[in-house]
Amino acid sequence: MSTIKIGAAEVVRIEESYEPNFDAAKFFADWQPAVVDEHAGWMLPDHFDPATGLLKLSVHSWLVRVGGRAILIDACVGNHKPRPLRPKWHLMETRYLERLAAAGVRPEQVDVVLCTHLHMDHVGWFTRRERDRWVPTFPNARHVFSRADYDHYLALDRDPEKGPVNQGSFRDSVLPVVEAGLADMVSGPHALDEHVRLDPAPGHTPGTVAITLTSQGAAALFCGDILHHAIQVYHPQWNSFACGDAERARASRRAVLARCADTGALLMPAHFGAPFVCRIEGTGDGFVPRFA
Ligand SMILES: [Zn+2]
Repeated sequence: MSTIKIGAAEVVRIEESYEPNFDAAKFFADWQPAVVDEHAGWMLPDHFDPATGLLKLSVHSWLVRVGGRAILIDACVGNHKPRPLRPKWHLMETRYLERLAAAGVRPEQVDVVLCTHLHMDHVGWFTRRERDRWVPTFPNARHVFSRADYDHYLALDRDPEKGPVNQGSFRDSVLPVVEAGLADMVSGPHALDEHVRLDPAPGHTPGTVAITLTSQGAAALFCGDILHHAIQVYHPQWNSFACGDAERARASRRAVLARCADTGALLMPAHFGAPFVCRIEGTGDGFVPRFA
C-alpha cells in the first residue's frame, strides 16, 4: 500500500476489486480493437486482459488525510449487496474494511465521505449489513454528494415503473445515511475546506462532481467516472454505456483533461488500472497520459 503525497496531504488507494471485468466493445460503443496493439506498451496487462478481451477496471476508494481529517472519496460496491444484474458485484465479500484498517483508519475514524456521483459502485460502503438492516458503515462521517444526483435518482426511485433505481443501491446505500442525518447535499461549486473543493461536471450523471485537492501548491483531481479507462485520455469523445448525457459527458471529460494539463494536477480516477493515477500532457489537439 503506497502513499501518494500531494503537498502535505497523503492519499492511499483502498482497493475493493481489480480484475478483468467488462467487455470492451460493450463498455465503449466506439471501441476499436486496434487500440490494443496501438497502446500495448501501457495497456497490457494492467488495463486490458488480452486472454479474455475484457477491460481491467479497478474499483477503489481514495483515502485522503489532510488538515487533520480522514476523507474517503467514493465508496465502491460494498459487501453483501444484492446486484444480480452485475454478477461480479453480486453479494461481494471483500476485505475492503481490512484494507482501510491497514491504512490506519477504522470506520468510526472516517470524518468525511465524498462521492463523485451516486452510481452503485460509488455508494456501496455507505452502509453495511447488520442482521436484516443496512446501517451506516461510517457512523461519524458527513457524507457529501451533489443534490442534483440525489434529486434525480430519488425521483426515478419513487417512480413505480423505474424504481428501484441503480440496482437497489439508492435504497440500501444512499437512503440509510440520509435518514440517519449523515448527508450533506451540495449544489454548485462547494469548498469543503481550504484543501478540498467539489465542482459540477455533469454528463456521466446529472450531478457528477470533480473533486480537487490542493496542498502547498500541489494538486490532485479526483474525476470519478468522468473517465473510466485511460484510453479515454486519447479518445475523450468515447463515452461509456453508463454515461447519461453524451454531449455533456464529453464536455466535462475534456474540461477535466484540460485542467490537469494546464495545472499539472495529478489525475486520480475511480477505475483506471495500475498505476491507477497519471499526469496529463496536452498535445495541441489532444491529450496523452503520463504514468509515473
Ligand atoms: Zn464507477
